[in-house]
Amino acid sequence: MSEPLILRRLCIIPTIKCTLCCKLCSNYIPIFGNVEHVSIEELINDIDQIFDLVDYTEWLQFVGGEIFMRKDLWQIYEYCLTYRKKFEKLILITNATLLPCNKDVDIIKRYGNGVQVQISDYGKYSYKTKEMTDLFMKNDIPYVVKKYYGEMQHYGGWVDNTHFEDRGKSEAAIFEQHKNCGQVVMQNFHLYRGKFQGCARSLLASVLGKIIPAERDFVDLYDNIKSKEEKREIIRHFNDSPRVSCRSCVSFSENVERFPAAEQL
Ligand code: SF4
Ligand code: SF4
Repeated sequence: MSEPLILRRLCIIPTIKCTLCCKLCSNYIPIFGNVEHVSIEELINDIDQIFDLVDYTEWLQFVGGEIFMRKDLWQIYEYCLTYRKKFEKLILITNATLLPCNKDVDIIKRYGNGVQVQISDYGKYSYKTKEMTDLFMKNDIPYVVKKYYGEMQHYGGWVDNTHFEDRGKSEAAIFEQHKNCGQVVMQNFHLYRGKFQGCARSLLASVLGKIIPAERDFVDLYDNIKSKEEKREIIRHFNDSPRVSCRSCVSFSENVERFPAAEQL
């Protein structure tokens, strides 16, 4: 029996549609354009496949796009209860432009303290923040608000990571950047439509065809050539060294230039 595969962050992207169109979106929503939501059936299959590979994850996260655009995702939050022993907390990330539907609230409440809604507050754009926090307070749903405007904002603003050309950094610089990258430190692994990768940039730049990931950079959940153990081994080593996408990444380190968050196109 192989060693258990335990993750820190497992983030599923159920939609690439968003209510906002942020110029520097790190998930490249404006570049994707109008892409259909991932169907409930496909999400359920992806969840079954990923939990066949992964023994446990601290956080099981859902991020878009904007997840509350969908009125059917309660089915997914409910389905994830069947894997409740395999994760500590359900994390839902929203830009507070839309309230969750009643069904979402009903199912989220069933997680008790095992859920947290993370509200990215973009000031004037996140005009439902107050209504949303009132709703969560009323329903005893744990939440946090991360402020992305004005003084003392999260991360001090955003980086411009919307370019994909190789920046010509030395191998040593790329290793250093990767080692100190927040995505690597947090082990923030992302899943979209059957493809699993070690960071959102690598995954979504690959989906967009902007980079070609190395064999060791991704796992295709539906690939029948690799065995389950081979896939687990790739996931275990996602963060051992830089990925192809690191070559074009500005990184999220402290000395990288910051821009105002959520500037709209
Ligand atoms: S709110 Fe902005 S940053 Fe967040 S997913 Fe939508 S477009 Fe991207
Ligand atoms: S591409 Fe590399 S440096 Fe950029 S976010 Fe991903 S792991 Fe970090």
